[in-house]
Amino acid sequence: MRRRQARPGRFARRWPATAGAVMAPLLGAALLVAAGAAAQSAAATPARPGVVSSRVIGHSAGGRAITAYEMGDPASPIKAVLLGQMHGDEHAGVTVANALLTGGRAITGIDLWVIPTMNPDGNAANTRANARGVDLNRNWPDYWVRDQTRCYTGPDPLIRAGGCDSGSAPLSEPETRAMYAFLKKLKPRYLVSLHQPLNAVDSAGGDARNHAFRDRVARGLGLPVKPLVCWSFCHGSMTGWLADHTATIAVTAEFPAAVSATRLRSAGAGIVTAMGGRFVTARSRDPVLKVAHATSPAPGVASLDGYAYDLDARSTALTVTVVEGGARIASAKTSVTSAAVNRAARLAGRHGYRFTFAAKPGRHRYCLIARNVGAGVADTKVCRTVTVAAATVAAPVATAPGVAASTQVGRPAAAAPAASAPVSASP
Ligand SMILES: [Zn+2]
Repeated sequence: MRRRQARPGRFARRWPATAGAVMAPLLGAALLVAAGAAAQSAAATPARPGVVSSRVIGHSAGGRAITAYEMGDPASPIKAVLLGQMHGDEHAGVTVANALLTGGRAITGIDLWVIPTMNPDGNAANTRANARGVDLNRNWPDYWVRDQTRCYTGPDPLIRAGGCDSGSAPLSEPETRAMYAFLKKLKPRYLVSLHQPLNAVDSAGGDARNHAFRDRVARGLGLPVKPLVCWSFCHGSMTGWLADHTATIAVTAEFPAAVSATRLRSAGAGIVTAMGGRFVTARSRDPVLKVAHATSPAPGVASLDGYAYDLDARSTALTVTVVEGGARIASAKTSVTSAAVNRAARLAGRHGYRFTFAAKPGRHRYCLIARNVGAGVADTKVCRTVTVAAATVAAPVATAPGVAASTQVGRPAAAAPAASAPVSASP
C-alpha cells in the first residue's frame, strides 16, 4: 500500500478503537482524563480512495460475495453501472474495474456503481459459466429459451460467444437474481457490460436505442462498432432484458483476447467520460470542517462550535473529535441543526457541533478533527487557539447552570463557574 505524507490541516484517518466510546454528554472531568489516545500523525492512503460506499448485492452459487462499489456523486440523478465481468474466463473487465477503484481519483457528475464481477465463482475457476455450469448471459427473463448445451471451451471465439446452458428457468441462478434486483432498484441511465474476446462494441444488442452513447463508449475504449454474435439476437441476455424491459441504455463492449495492462488501466476513464462523468482528486472528497467560534465563555471554560459535513454522505452526522497536544478531550457526532448550512451545501440532517469543557487558565491549542466518510483520503483537521482566563476568587457562587447550556457558548457567563464545574461536550 502506498503511503502519503501527512500534510498540514489533515489528520490520521483511523482512530484507536476507544475513540467512539466517549460521548455520553456532561461527563465533566472524565473527559479530561480520557486522553491517552495519541493522535497518529500519518495515515495510510485508503485502498479505494474514490469509493463512496460499497454493498454486497448477493452471493454466487459457491457462496462468494458479489460487491457493487459506488464511485460517483450520490446526489447525482444520473445513475450508471460498469459491470467488469459476467463470464468468468473474461478477465480484462475485472482489471478495468479494479483500476478505477484503486486509481486514487474520485468521480463526479454521475453516480457510478462499479461491479468488478457478477460471476466470482467463474472468475476463480476461469470458466465462462457459474459454478453450476450456467451461462449468466442466457439466464435473463427476455426471450429466454431452455438450452442445455455444455459450455464450449475450445479456441473459437464465435462458438464461445454463442453461449451455453441457459439454466432451468429465467433467473434460476443466484448471480443473475442479485444483479436483476440491483438493477431494478437502481434504475441506471447507463450500463456498460465488459466482455472478451470479440474486439468490438455491439451495434446489434441492447444498445441500439442510443447510438450516441454506444459510439462514445467505442471511442473511449478504442474499439470498433459492429454487430456481435448471437447474430443480432441473444436469448436471455442481460442487455436484451435492459433494452426490452427497462429505460437503461446498455452497451456490450468486447475487448480482444489479448489486451495490454496499460490499455486496461486507462479504459475506465473512457467509459466514465462516455457516461458524462468527470474525475476529481479523491482528496477533494474529504470532510468540510468549519470552526465558527473558539472562545472561553467563562473563566476555566473553553468552547468550540461550528459545523462539519461530507458531501459523500449529505445526511450523515460526522464524528468530530477535539484534541490538544495529541490527547483526546472530547468526541461527538454533529447534532445541531443549521438550516443555513444545510441550505448552502444542500445537506439534510444535523451537521453542527458544540463542545464546552473545563480548561486550565492560559493559552490552549485545540484541534478539531472531522472523520472522513465515503470517498476521500483523510480526515479533516482544523486548529484554533483559545486563551482561558483564571477563575476569580471573588466570583459569585451561583451554581451556574448556564455553563452546561449550549446557548451560552460564545457569550460571557453571568456567573463565572469554578474551573472544576461540570462541563459539557454537547451536543
Ligand atoms: Zn462474455
